[in-house]
Amino acid sequence: MTKQRLEGKVAIVTGGASGIGAESVRLFSENGAFIVVADVQDELGHHLVASIGSDKVSYRHCDVRDEKQVEETVSFALEKYGRLDIMFSNAGIGGSFSGILDLDLNGFDNTMAVNVRGVAATIKHAARAMVANKIRGSIICTASVAGLLAGSGPHGYTVSKHAIIGLVRTACSELGAYGIRVNCLSPYAVATPLTCTALNVEADVIEATGHDLTNLKGITLKASHIAEAALFLASDDSAYISGHNLVVDGGFNASKSCFP
Ligand code: NAD
Repeated sequence: MTKQRLEGKVAIVTGGASGIGAESVRLFSENGAFIVVADVQDELGHHLVASIGSDKVSYRHCDVRDEKQVEETVSFALEKYGRLDIMFSNAGIGGSFSGILDLDLNGFDNTMAVNVRGVAATIKHAARAMVANKIRGSIICTASVAGLLAGSGPHGYTVSKHAIIGLVRTACSELGAYGIRVNCLSPYAVATPLTCTALNVEADVIEATGHDLTNLKGITLKASHIAEAALFLASDDSAYISGHNLVVDGGFNASKSCFP
C-alpha cells in the first residue's frame, strides 16, 4: 500500500474538474485526503467524483471570480469534512494571443478576474478558515513558466502568472505568523484542454514541442507530474517550504542562455 501522505487532511482543489486539477484530485484521494472539487464545469466535476467513487470526495460549483462562491465553498468544506488543511488554487484560463497593439482589454480583465482575483479570493478565504481553526495549512497556487518568462504574450495570461508569483510571496510573508505555508507551482506546457484550446493544436503537438524545447529528454510532461509536485507541497514532506515557486519544466528555464 502506498504511503498515505494526506491522511485525514481536507483539501479544496479549484479547477479540479479537468487537467492538472483532476489529476491532483485523483492523487490526493489516493493519498487519503478528503477533497472538495471546485469548478464551473459541473458535469465534468460530478463525473470525476463518481469515477473516484468515495464519499471523501465531493463536487461544488464555484466560479472563483465570485468571492461569495469562494467563501461558500470554504464553508462547505468545513461543514462537510470539519476542517480545511489544503487549498490548491489551480483554476485558470488561457488568454488571447493578440499583440499589445490590438489588446482586447475585456478579455484581459477576464483573465485577471479568474487567474489573479480568483487566486487572491481563494487564498483569503482559505487562510481565514485556517487561522480561525488554528490549522497550520498549505496553500498552493498554480502559476506557470509564463510567470517567469515573457516574450510577446499572451499578455493577459503572462501578466496574470507573474502576478500570482508576487501574490504568493506577499501572502506567505503575512501567513507565516500563523504557521500557514503558501507556495507556487510553475509548470511548463502540459497537454490539457487549456493549452490545446489556447494554442489551437492537438495534444501531440504540445508534447512534441516539449520534447524539442526542454532539456530533459526521453520523458513527456504530463498533468500527473504536476500533481506529484502539488502533493509534495500539500503534504508535510514540504513542512519548512513556504514562499517558494516550484518550477516543473524539465530544466527549460535553466537551459536558456544569454551567451551565443
Ligand atoms: P484545464 O483547462 O484542463 O483546467 C482548468 C480548470 O479551471 C477547468 O476545469 C476550468 O473549468 C476551471 N476554471 C476555469 N475558469 C474557472 C473559474 N472562473 N472558476 C473555477 N474554475 C474555473 O487546464 P490546466 O492546464 O489543467 O490548468 C490548470 C492550471 O494550470 C491553470 O491555472 C493554468 O494556467 C495552469 N498551467 C497550465 C499549464 C499547461 O500547460 N497546461 C502550464 C502552466 C500553468
